[in-house]
Amino acid sequence: MALIQISEPGQSTKPHERKLAVGIDLGTTNSLVAAVRSGQAATLADEKGEHLLPSVVYYAKDKTRLVGKEARQHQISDPLNTISSVKRYMGRTLDDIKAKEPSLHYNFIQTDSTVPRIKTQAGEVSAIEVSAEILSVLKKRAELTLGDELTGVVITVPAYFDDAQRQATKDAGTLAGLNVLRLINEPTAAAVAYGLDKSSDGVIAVYDLGGGTFDISILRVTQGVFEVLATAGDTALGGDDFDHVIANWIKQQLGLDNSDKSLNNQVLGAACQAKQTLTTEQLANIEIEHNGIKATVELSLEQLNTLIDPLIKKTLMPCRRALRDAQIELDEVKAVVMVGGSTRVPRVRDRVGDYFKQPPMIDINPDTVVAIGAAIQADVLVGNKADSDLLLLDVVPLSLGLETMGDLVEKIIPRNTTIPVTRAQDFTTYKDGQTAMSIHVVQGERELVSDCRSLGRFSLKGIPPLVAGSARIRVTFEVDADGLLHVSAREETTGIESGIEVKPSYGLTDTEIEKMLLDSMEHAEEDIAARMLHEQQVEADRVLEALAAALDDDGDMLSTEERQSIDTAAENLAKLKTGNDDRAIKQAMQELDKVAEVFVSRRMDSNIRKAMAGHNVDEFNAQD
Ligand code: ADP
Ligand code: MG
Repeated sequence: MALIQISEPGQSTKPHERKLAVGIDLGTTNSLVAAVRSGQAATLADEKGEHLLPSVVYYAKDKTRLVGKEARQHQISDPLNTISSVKRYMGRTLDDIKAKEPSLHYNFIQTDSTVPRIKTQAGEVSAIEVSAEILSVLKKRAELTLGDELTGVVITVPAYFDDAQRQATKDAGTLAGLNVLRLINEPTAAAVAYGLDKSSDGVIAVYDLGGGTFDISILRVTQGVFEVLATAGDTALGGDDFDHVIANWIKQQLGLDNSDKSLNNQVLGAACQAKQTLTTEQLANIEIEHNGIKATVELSLEQLNTLIDPLIKKTLMPCRRALRDAQIELDEVKAVVMVGGSTRVPRVRDRVGDYFKQPPMIDINPDTVVAIGAAIQADVLVGNKADSDLLLLDVVPLSLGLETMGDLVEKIIPRNTTIPVTRAQDFTTYKDGQTAMSIHVVQGERELVSDCRSLGRFSLKGIPPLVAGSARIRVTFEVDADGLLHVSAREETTGIESGIEVKPSYGLTDTEIEKMLLDSMEHAEEDIAARMLHEQQVEADRVLEALAAALDDDGDMLSTEERQSIDTAAENLAKLKTGNDDRAIKQAMQELDKVAEVFVSRRMDSNIRKAMAGHNVDEFNAQD
């Protein structure tokens, strides 16, 4: 696999030319900004000395906005105007959101565009705008701390984010007035923070369990170069889910009613508190006050472990899958890096250690490690680092391809190909005189278009009318460093071009991705059979069409008997073509080939004769 260099080698800058660039971890729960100063990367604090900015925005009646801790204070009293975990909604349609949250947390409204909006007392807002509020606060904090305007930023995203989610994140940055140099995957940033490029070569697993997302990445370090071998994860699994199972347990223990929203929020807060207490203690005291009555319950570490074990177990399946995709055996993993606040939970560390058969790395604060890596990367991208050898490679999570004749998918960029990547493939027209071609871009692992996800369509018009199979259309797929796909098509003889930037209107849920992957494995045999049948059917169509055209032109070259046997073979093929026996179709085609042999050779002779008419035989010899 070729390695792609991101930074220009030898691009050194003098100290006074130093440009300000920061890294931002735009988290579901908490966000952070970090910068490299005097060669050291560190997170930047606000005026109160706080590093973590809760990813919460409060929309007040007077149209003012509060971001962070102050916003979070309104969560219980005014939940509908206090937007949290907005990252879950990035690049999602209302249908996607409803599928995940059967009882919606906010007043969502469907708009004409695919981006749903949330109704607040300060007006309607989209997930992109809410994220932009968070980014603006971090931008201000950075400019205040560093004393100058920012040249650019690197924002991190979960490795599993699809095109739409990445695009939405980029848009949020732009909306906040930031120059987004690049989006990088959170686990990749963590590995950079650990300086694993400076350690010995080998394979590293990055296990990132935050508040709302889980990511596992398998990276290989070779002489200071990072390569992402595979990624997997779950965009709806994290510490928030721990809080929910604990909260349900509390309600069960105390016999609390489930329908009171403000009580539910109070219990959720207490659950989170108890979870955090239990990272250092053996027992947590939980106190709930409802209708003037106080109720208490004790949660033991053992009970907590029992409650969260199924959730931890759920993270191990993507680990297994990522290792398999990377074709890495467990004992080849030389280090396991822990990222995200939820990896502070001792049970998580133990279980992950058990799974990978080694104690995980926990030296760097798991909350800040991603922002620090992003800051190091931003510093490189903006050109502050001389002769930097930092390379980051990410991968395409699902195969990208296009529809060809017969509902078949031609994969252009296979799943887990490192990005940025450009791949081109040549296609041709199917019909004589075809002047337009419709290009349908799909994503997925299955063989048939109907089983994959449609990303977009465009058409290439103005193809010169030629005989079927002689136009040459080069379709180019390009996935840029941010993971965004651009597709273009060009007819090579005329140079006519057409293309699209694929910005799917909605994102895939991780369950859908998982399902698509599982389906592709489950149906592999069935798919191959379906592909063979479709291929034979397409080929049969082509043969029959070509034959009909040839008979039209030169049918008079045949005797009645010859014509009869060709017609019989053709009818037989036409009949079998509609069935589902690919071998019978193939055989019928071979039979037709055989009986049509005389016809083909006679036509060829006649064509040669026509071509040579009026020419001297020597002319042709001279041309050889
Ligand atoms: P995200 O990447 O989703 O923004 P973070 O990495 O900031 O998330 O992690 C937030 C999660 O970590 C929350 O669910 C929070 O409750 C959890 N968390 C933070 N500190 C602790 C702790 N000491 N023990 C257990 N969980 C913790
Ligand atoms: Mg995180």
